[in-house]
Amino acid sequence: MRRAITLILVQFLMLHASGQDGATFEPPVKIPMYLSGNFGEIRSDHFHSGIDIKTQGTTGHHVSSVEEGYVSRIKVQANGYGKSIYISHPNGYTSVYGHLDRYRDDIAAYVKRMQYKQQSHMVDLYLSKETFPMEKGEFIAFSGNTGGSSGPHLHFEIRSSANQHPTNVLSYNFEIKDLVAPRFHSIFLYPMDNNCKINGKTERFSSKIVRDKGIYTIPYGTTIEASGILGISVEVFDYLDGASNRCGVHTLEMFVDNKLSYSHVMDEFAFSETRYINAHIDYEERIKSGKKAHRLHRLPNDRLRIYKRSLENKPLLVDESRNYSIRIVATDVAGNSSTLEFSLRGSELTSPTPVAGKGDFTSMKYDQINSFKEGPVQLEIPANALYQDLDFSFQSSPQADGSLTPFYQIANREVPVHKAYTLSIKKPDYDRSLNRKLLLISYNDKREVVSAGGTYQDGYIVAKLRNFGEFAVGLDTIAPRIMPHGSTGGDFSAKKELRFTIEDELSGIAKYEGYIDNQWALFEYDPKNKLLYYSFDEQHILKDSEHELELYVSDEKGNVNLLHTTFNW
Ligand SMILES: [Zn+2]
Repeated sequence: MRRAITLILVQFLMLHASGQDGATFEPPVKIPMYLSGNFGEIRSDHFHSGIDIKTQGTTGHHVSSVEEGYVSRIKVQANGYGKSIYISHPNGYTSVYGHLDRYRDDIAAYVKRMQYKQQSHMVDLYLSKETFPMEKGEFIAFSGNTGGSSGPHLHFEIRSSANQHPTNVLSYNFEIKDLVAPRFHSIFLYPMDNNCKINGKTERFSSKIVRDKGIYTIPYGTTIEASGILGISVEVFDYLDGASNRCGVHTLEMFVDNKLSYSHVMDEFAFSETRYINAHIDYEERIKSGKKAHRLHRLPNDRLRIYKRSLENKPLLVDESRNYSIRIVATDVAGNSSTLEFSLRGSELTSPTPVAGKGDFTSMKYDQINSFKEGPVQLEIPANALYQDLDFSFQSSPQADGSLTPFYQIANREVPVHKAYTLSIKKPDYDRSLNRKLLLISYNDKREVVSAGGTYQDGYIVAKLRNFGEFAVGLDTIAPRIMPHGSTGGDFSAKKELRFTIEDELSGIAKYEGYIDNQWALFEYDPKNKLLYYSFDEQHILKDSEHELELYVSDEKGNVNLLHTTFNW
């Protein structure tokens, strides 16, 4: 057995030792590489475009260039990758390093110069070959936890330089041990047309998955009877050695009666396609339970390139009285695979029973422009904003706290939206001078009222939205709060930073700007910690003297708070 595994491993290494076209790279960190995330795993509204390398729970590990080349781009964001660096290599690839704590000194000085020049914390800089040429293994930055990162790690990508498509990092020669096969956790079956029944019902069916003699299956005694067009999705994750994190699988295939009916391979995608993940996954299940399940069929308007082209990848049609045997195979990028097998009892299609009066629906075709108007509400949905045809529903519910109009139920949250549609709600009878402060509000997962954006236009509040749900008109007249850490007007001569907590109630922080002694000063914003900070810097302010600080923080509705104070440093 051991010998067989070794042989398979050796074969695998020979196949993959040097990536898809011979490119080889050095590890970006000196510590052993354990991953908390891999390429193509399911994230919110996108596929993960790289690997997340664990950094032993701390920041400050040396990050180095994986190949010779030059720094071609440096991006600083409050969210997203935080501080990141892109290195272009002569082999046609670009490596990307994200959530960095700080750049090495000469790069940091360059970035700061550009931030002062542009008077902006956030910069996106494209550099020529000469500015920072790189040797293979050259130190570039310290690992961190900046931007949208929720714990110290290095986000690392390898992109094709020509089209900036991220590629599967684990298909190159990095030493990352993976002898663990993917594991199936649950399965979901759901009607894809009005005729479909599962165990006599028109509702979705779900079951946990168990493992029996090395094969995954549904628990003993679970029967599935079905007829009609059936969607199937599975919750399956890959795991890597030395980490318990749920990662993504590389390939997923479904066989019906031993015939391949669905297949996808996660090797490469375009950033412009990544939102199609909401078509690829069982979005309804994601909203209902938070579970991340792959559909084993492709929706009509899912344009991802990952599906096998020679297959139709259609949902399963059950129309005969017989057993259908289903086999689903998940494989990771190291070649470990797992199989899920079960059978379902099919029956012939019966004539459709009329749907009970559940209210009015408007039929919407996904590939056409769809408009809807009822009372004070108007919708304009562009063609291909939906992934499949929709029985669109609309309802209004009583006015709730904090809203100026009733909440309007626009389709429902379980229906994904690809392109932004326009929602307009007529302005209620309200003080005209506050038109600029009106916006649309909605609910988040926790049923808290949140901003959905939007502006006043010709008697309506108009917003571009990429999700359905409940919406109403709200008002935001409250400026963000600025709370200093430590005493203002105090002595900071022994401190490294000025720090403030900033918060906004509804529309969200839109702008932050600080001036020290009437000069623009670099204040960095860390949204996940609601932190705004200035690092003292002798290049820009005079040491051992009194300084004047003006700090402006404004929200999306133009409500501004100004903090004006003095301090010693
Ligand atoms: Zn990442």
